[in-house]
Amino acid sequence: MEFKQDFFTQLPDLYSQVYPQGLTQPKWLAWSHAAAQLIGLTQPTDELLQGLSGNAQIEGATYYAQVYSGHQFGGYTPRLGDGRSIILGEALGPVGAWDVALKGAGPTPYSRHGDGRAVMRSAIREFLVSEALYHLKVPTTRALAVIGSDLPVWRESQETAAITVRLARSHIRFGHFEYCCHSERGQTDKLKRLLHFTLTQHYPHLSCDAGGYKAWFLQVVKDTAKMIAHWQAVGFAHGVMNTDNMSILGDSFDFGPFAFLDTFQEDFICNHSDPEGRYAFGQQPGIGLWNLQRLAQALTPVIPSDDLLAALNQYQAALVESYLALMRAKLGLPSWDAPTQEQDRQDLELIGRFTQLMEQNHLDYAQTWRQFGKVDPSSRFSPLRDDFIDTHGFDTWYQAYQLRVGEISELTHWQAERNSLNPKYILRNYLAQEAIIAAEEGNLAPLERLQQLLTSPFAEQIEHDAFAQRPPAWGQGLIMSCSS
Ligand code: AMP
Ligand code: MG
Repeated sequence: MEFKQDFFTQLPDLYSQVYPQGLTQPKWLAWSHAAAQLIGLTQPTDELLQGLSGNAQIEGATYYAQVYSGHQFGGYTPRLGDGRSIILGEALGPVGAWDVALKGAGPTPYSRHGDGRAVMRSAIREFLVSEALYHLKVPTTRALAVIGSDLPVWRESQETAAITVRLARSHIRFGHFEYCCHSERGQTDKLKRLLHFTLTQHYPHLSCDAGGYKAWFLQVVKDTAKMIAHWQAVGFAHGVMNTDNMSILGDSFDFGPFAFLDTFQEDFICNHSDPEGRYAFGQQPGIGLWNLQRLAQALTPVIPSDDLLAALNQYQAALVESYLALMRAKLGLPSWDAPTQEQDRQDLELIGRFTQLMEQNHLDYAQTWRQFGKVDPSSRFSPLRDDFIDTHGFDTWYQAYQLRVGEISELTHWQAERNSLNPKYILRNYLAQEAIIAAEEGNLAPLERLQQLLTSPFAEQIEHDAFAQRPPAWGQGLIMSCSS
């Protein structure tokens, strides 16, 4: 790996240097070839294993834990930081640089009462979801590997420690700006340095002046809206949308008790520690805005409030635009060149009625969408119909849908296109759970198979049909705890 160390050299106020504590008996549990290519790696070698497990120093790495703040479940925590993640620097790859972070590499000055470790099940989940989202074309951080060990760690019971090697275009979070704003009381040096760093590294086309700041914040608003539109379209619940878990670049980030929806349910809560559903599936768009408002608040010392407000006011439109584009494509609605507000409203209503029917009929989100690959909108008969208990409701919807789709010149092509947009395979919680249980018993084959399957979520892969099914009884409504 070849590193540059821009964050380390330019933002000394925003981290503490800290070295990992090695894992005993490290072993590769998972490896992503696609992610490896991003930083010019090819093979999971022994030398790399020693380095990434924290047992040997990696040449060119600096080792630091970042400090940041965050609004957690609505309340502000002034000093959080990487309690169990150590960044090696920015690894250079064929297309850009990627932060390499060892999540679970031991305590840091920000660990508070934590042990700085990650348990194997959470490391595997983070790895799988990063790569799954990427292959679903959702903006996300990536994961290179999971390294397991025999090091015992204590959660509700004794488990073993593991490290997820995360790759991110940046680890800068909304919370970094909140930290700078709140820690310097009236001064703006830190905030400006962070802002300049962010702009020069990630928005090189923007200038470091008032105009550039304004354009930048609008871009953050739009990128966040786009990420959340993707989550809503693919049926992904993040679970812990605290501002310290929001990447400034709009990449899905810091996964904990996330879930892909099985049965569609707007108020679905995936996080055991969120009984009130602050981060329920249907709340995500609103929380995205709330988080952006916290970010805007932190930026008021350096960006005029009018500019911040003007950008925030574009959030909803940006979200709807991205969401509509994704959902029109899933349904096969012909897109308009420049849709009128009325056309958008009608499409939103058509989409909303469909998801509502799905919810009322307790349908599986991914399976239902996948059926569109078999639909012939010119036919009165739809293979979807039998899935609905409320066939009358479906028929009414389907007639409106037929009208909106209109003539299709090449049905086979149209259906193939639907299949390329509605995944057959998603990372259902029960699938992750099965792979984890096997891995805990020393059998890595199911994990490897699942990882492989999720690299082509849109392909039929008929031999893997079983993985596209609804969860068995034990796997329904699995809710993950925050313990990780
Ligand atoms: P999360 O909910 O995973 O984003 O974590 C919130 C904060 O708690 C972050 O600052 C983490 O670094 C920290 N944290 C979580 N688990 C641990 C742990 N086992 N040891 C130390 N810090 C932790
Ligand atoms: Mg976090």
